[in-house]
Amino acid sequence: MSRAYNFSAGPATLPEPVLRQAQSEMLEWRDAGASIVEISHRGPEFLEVATSAERALRALLSIPDDYAVLFTQGGATTQQALIPLNFAQPGQPADYVVTGHWGKTALKQAGPYVATHVAASSEADGYRNIPARSTWQFAADAAYVHITANETIHGVEFREIPDVGDVPLVADFSSSIASEPLDIGKFGVIYAGAQKNLGPVGISVTIVRRDLLERAGQPRADIFDYRSQLKGESMLNTPPTWNWYMLGLTVQWMLDEGGVAEFAQRNARKSALLYSAIDESGGFYRNEVDPAVRSRMNVPFFLKDEALDKPFLSEAKDAGLIALKGHRVIGGMRASIYNAMPEAGVQALADFMRDFMRRHG
Ligand code: PMP
Repeated sequence: MSRAYNFSAGPATLPEPVLRQAQSEMLEWRDAGASIVEISHRGPEFLEVATSAERALRALLSIPDDYAVLFTQGGATTQQALIPLNFAQPGQPADYVVTGHWGKTALKQAGPYVATHVAASSEADGYRNIPARSTWQFAADAAYVHITANETIHGVEFREIPDVGDVPLVADFSSSIASEPLDIGKFGVIYAGAQKNLGPVGISVTIVRRDLLERAGQPRADIFDYRSQLKGESMLNTPPTWNWYMLGLTVQWMLDEGGVAEFAQRNARKSALLYSAIDESGGFYRNEVDPAVRSRMNVPFFLKDEALDKPFLSEAKDAGLIALKGHRVIGGMRASIYNAMPEAGVQALADFMRDFMRRHG
């Protein structure tokens, strides 16, 4: 077997111990007589998996008791539509700070339900920075302010939590959840698709300050209602049991490795390795994001000559480094280096980049 270092943006590489444990439990989970995905979600075995996943996530992220945690299907994009339905009156304004592709997606998903208002945007600048907080202009009576904590495609990350006063701050943490310690108490809602830092795709995590669940929101089916989901323990319908189980294993692995404080250090070292390889290349590689807000999770970069893209990707593959092609929206290359990417993988990529430059520079 030759597992490569996999820089995919999501679905992304998973910790090898998690895959091994899942493999060893594939035919029979403990003494259930079947695998965890072949038995009822309402039976004692799966309830144990579900509650320990939540317990572990609460411990990993230090989620305060006045926050509910929902595990639902539909990915982050669905949450982007459910947030206005649950937390805003029909037609009420909601503020969006757009710092990349996913902020724009959030804005689009909310469009049918609220009077979306762009409080700030770096689109005109090609999403290479985050507009200074002092320039944001909020709508009167906004239901919430939405930000994208880390822009997975553009590689732009909030390095501090913006103060938005008493209006709830709603944040898409899909690609940076659990990457460093976070004061959850500063947010109204945090949501994330699991497929970057929390496990395989198919489940999302929504962390909601409980008082916000009292909001009337808009007419919606039960299945789109966070309050009903909480009451039904995220089991209004059959939950994605495999994904929930894998999320639990992944979160437990992060706890075993030392938790978010440890990952913050690893992630700082890993991203510094790559940005140095780029910045010290004399323009052979380039990343155009304002260094103050460069993402620690997704490092997009361009080669000085597009004609080198193909050889870069194929030689990287031969060196055991896969999934480096950039997102079609901006092209170029992108290395996603979530918690499960070992430092050795990032070192191997930085070494390869220097070597490639020597040969093609
Ligand atoms: N937000 C961010 C920051 C993302 O990176 C992604 C997916 N790459 C999404 C939202 C959309 O997530 P999903 O595919 O789970 O709907």
